[in-house]
Amino acid sequence: MWQEFVSLDLQSRETCESAAWEPALFDAREESDTYSIVGSGKSITGAYFGEGVTVVGLGQPPELTELNLQENQLSVSCAATVAQVQSHLVSKGYMLTGVPSYPGVTIGGCIAGNVHGQNHFREGCFCESLIRFTLIHPDLGLVSVDRESYPELFNLTVGGFGLTGLIINATLKIEAIKSSFLDVSLVKFSSIEDAYEKLVSKNNAGRYFHSWVDLTTLSPNPGRGFFYKADFSLTPFEAIREISSVGSEKNHLRFKLPIFSKTTVSALNRVYYQKNLMFPKKTQALVDFVFPSARRLWYFSMFGSKGIIEHQVLIPHERVPQYTNSLVNILKEKNPFVSLSHVKHFSGRRKLLNFNGSGLCLALHFRAGVTEFETLALIDKLNCDCNCITNILKDSRVPRWAIKEQYSEYDEFVTRLHKFDPRRLFRNSLSQRLIDLD
Ligand SMILES: Cc1cc2nc3c(=O)[nH]c(=O)nc-3n(C[C@H](O)[C@H](O)[C@H](O)COP(=O)(O)OP(=O)(O)OC[C@H]3O[C@@H](n4cnc5c(N)ncnc54)[C@H](O)[C@@H]3O)c2cc1C
Repeated sequence: MWQEFVSLDLQSRETCESAAWEPALFDAREESDTYSIVGSGKSITGAYFGEGVTVVGLGQPPELTELNLQENQLSVSCAATVAQVQSHLVSKGYMLTGVPSYPGVTIGGCIAGNVHGQNHFREGCFCESLIRFTLIHPDLGLVSVDRESYPELFNLTVGGFGLTGLIINATLKIEAIKSSFLDVSLVKFSSIEDAYEKLVSKNNAGRYFHSWVDLTTLSPNPGRGFFYKADFSLTPFEAIREISSVGSEKNHLRFKLPIFSKTTVSALNRVYYQKNLMFPKKTQALVDFVFPSARRLWYFSMFGSKGIIEHQVLIPHERVPQYTNSLVNILKEKNPFVSLSHVKHFSGRRKLLNFNGSGLCLALHFRAGVTEFETLALIDKLNCDCNCITNILKDSRVPRWAIKEQYSEYDEFVTRLHKFDPRRLFRNSLSQRLIDLD
């Protein structure tokens, strides 16, 4: 079946053949066939389709999961969404860790993107909890991969954008939770640097966080905002309703009107800021706090047909003051429309092309316009000057030269990928833009 695929940020589209995986699919291939793999299709840049590839998905997941509560482990189909898995786990008093703010993504997408959640400082990326997975590649067949048996293949597949083959199922560590509710309190900040200082302060330790930064107005305080920190409530467990956004949610509204402009969003932000300051303490359902983006895909249709660019960068601790200062100067000079921004505290170790490491993680959503592209070109240079890395899975315009300069193991990733699969049977829009040689 032929189908048109469009990325969430509206920056890329392609008409490709698509197929559900079945054991005979790869056996029937022609010599020149190449494939990309789709989970829920919710990666912002559309890293699951590409030019000239057949898009392969796992189809519907089988009835959920094998749960081993003695070992705190879960085995699950990679077609299952985080929402499906979490709905199942939370009602039993358990939780996955390192899950993204939007729960309609698949377990396969979380492994291939090595995504992160609401408290990277404590949990690291998603794959910290990954024990093993089963991979299928046409030349290898089915392989059960863990850190001991196939360390190279494990590291190449984790955060490897689906370029090593189709991950079919996975075994993950799960964590016991004390309540299905959180006690949440607000910490206000006046700038991104102030946010950083408050996030890293021991006084603000918490189990989960999420933040909001206002960059629609740059005076008097560029980057004022708040973060919420949250810990388990003493409120006992209650049955939770199903988490929505199980992956069936449409990526775009039918009509994409440019409803979000600098004026509208800046007015909305003023109200949103004041409203949140009015309720600095509250008790909230765990799943509502951990998945702030659930049911919010409409956001991507609010900027008209040009869409957005999401730019996410990891700034090393020692460069935060220099970086934030230069960033504010760039924003003041170019005056782009930044609709949404947030910050996170990261603690981890970078490997290959994974968006991982230690420092301040800053996300900026730009409307995709000429001024914004010029601003981003200046930010690319700033990122290189300050030893930052850009999240490859989020920004569909970041140039190859910037990624090569920012990721010290870029060449290592490309070499290992070609060694593993000299014919490079798996490709997608992301690899075609940033990785593939031919
Ligand atoms: C509203 C929103 C909020 C988000 N918040 C966060 C966040 O907080 N943190 C974060 O890190 N990310 C976040 N993301 C990004 C998202 O978590 C990742 O892009 C994730 O990879 C998407 O999963 P998916 O199932 O939709 O995968 P797809 O978009 O279908 O694919 C993503 C990549 O994974 C590969 N892939 C998917 N399934 C498999 C498989 N079974 N085997 C091999 N490769 C596979 C694809 O080939 C592709 O390269 C957010 C996205 C949205 C839309």
